[in-house]
Amino acid sequence: MKNLLRGMQLATAFSLTTLAWSCAGTSATQKSFEQLRHAMVDEQVLRRGVEDPRVLDALRKVPRHLFVPAHLQRLAYEDHPLPIGLGQTISQPYIVALMTELARVKPNDTVLEIGTGSGYQAAVLSVLAKRIFTIEYLAELGESARQRLRELGYSNVEVRIGDGFRGWPERQPFGAILVTAASQEVPQPLIEQLRAGGRLVIPVGGQSEAQTLQVIEKDASGAVSRRNVIPVRFVPLVRPRDGVRK
Ligand code: SAH
Repeated sequence: MKNLLRGMQLATAFSLTTLAWSCAGTSATQKSFEQLRHAMVDEQVLRRGVEDPRVLDALRKVPRHLFVPAHLQRLAYEDHPLPIGLGQTISQPYIVALMTELARVKPNDTVLEIGTGSGYQAAVLSVLAKRIFTIEYLAELGESARQRLRELGYSNVEVRIGDGFRGWPERQPFGAILVTAASQEVPQPLIEQLRAGGRLVIPVGGQSEAQTLQVIEKDASGAVSRRNVIPVRFVPLVRPRDGVRK
């Protein structure tokens, strides 16, 4: 009996130790995710010339590892895109940073994103602007992004399942629009839904050809100008006529 009790105590002590270890492990992991995130901003973003302090701050805050599949969390802060399921990807951190800087989002802005994917870009925008509307074509991705954003407390983001090519007319005009999938042409409805002084940031080009990140700006008189920024590679912006609704 005594031996049995001692055995139980030992077992309890052991499991408590294990528990203590696993708790310590969790906080160490959290800490290292934060360190990885700060290093990502310094080495991949700042070093390549994205300097807007508000953008850098937002990237330091948003836990990117919680926007990728669990088995890829350790890779979340590396210098490349990652798969998020259904053939789609979360963009490379630098590209998210660059597009966000180019959009020059202000605290009072209403922003539209096309291509919600994981919800990461929307979360970054939500730190910087008043309201974010984001549209995802694939229901499964859109619904899990909506849930993730809600659980993480990004309460100023609204996710719609649908075709982003047409924009979100009921919520226009937008101070900035970011399209995170490549389009052969710049969707006319998106230009129309920009407010005067607003910017549309979009990768333009097909799947098998070079794509270029473009910034389209509407001035106070409504005149539109376009400039090319850098060559990029994005998944395609799907059109309903392509017949690939899943
Ligand atoms: N911004 C995302 C990554 C986007 S990947 C993130 O931060 O994780 C591009 C996304 O665009 C994919 O999820 C794809 O399903 C979506 N997409 C493609 N065509 C679309 C369309 N016409 N309307 C809305 N979303 C579209």
